[in-house]
Amino acid sequence: MLSSNISLIVLFAVLGLVFGSFGTVIISRVPAGRHLGGRSRCPRCTHVLGAVELVPLFSYLLLRGRCRHCSRSISVFYPLLELASALLFVLAFFIGSTPLPSLLLAFSLWLLLLIAVIDARTQTIHDALNVSFLLFSVAYVVVLGRLHMAGPLLFIFFFGVQWLLSRGRWVGSGDILLGAGIGFLLGGWEKALLCLGLAYMLGAAAAIFLLATKRATRKSRIPFGPFLAIATLLMVVAGNEMLRMLVPGLL
Ligand SMILES: [Zn+2]
Repeated sequence: MLSSNISLIVLFAVLGLVFGSFGTVIISRVPAGRHLGGRSRCPRCTHVLGAVELVPLFSYLLLRGRCRHCSRSISVFYPLLELASALLFVLAFFIGSTPLPSLLLAFSLWLLLLIAVIDARTQTIHDALNVSFLLFSVAYVVVLGRLHMAGPLLFIFFFGVQWLLSRGRWVGSGDILLGAGIGFLLGGWEKALLCLGLAYMLGAAAAIFLLATKRATRKSRIPFGPFLAIATLLMVVAGNEMLRMLVPGLL
């Protein structure tokens, strides 16, 4: 039992690294409108990356963070994203009770990671990723027999009202899709509400920090997606415990 668990954990970690590597391709190509086919190239010398250079994480360590051809330094962001993806996959393994829900949750969290990183870098949210995230989240809760409408409806209402009031200036229609996916993942309205509250608190804390350290001005727009993603992850990992602490006797 234990040994089969260990091999499954290793399998999830390796899958996480591989999809993390694919994620770096998505993150650098989707916002620029480039298609996902074709081999990866060094952005400076356009040398096509060989098989060894495509092995996630280890190639970075092996090449000491430089292109083998022109020795241009490769951003440490790429191996970190691969590592984060592997950690999310292993986390999903422990949260989902059996391999199928674990795998569906892993892909949901992986997509949420990509959405958050793209939002942080370009302040845009891509509907192809939002819709995929929504579908994996719904599949996850359906497989577990935990499909609730209160969570998604709360998010759709919350972002939908802002979208209507501002005619799409405060939040985009992509936020509504993203919110719906998070709502399905979390289930009940209690967790959805706590998630929104947490996201705004994290966002406010980050804004105060950025203003205090003069890394942002009052006019800067700080993307909300990353905070929403962190809050969602916290709720997925420890939402029940947090609710129990806040409202004793609720669960
Ligand atoms: Zn190069």
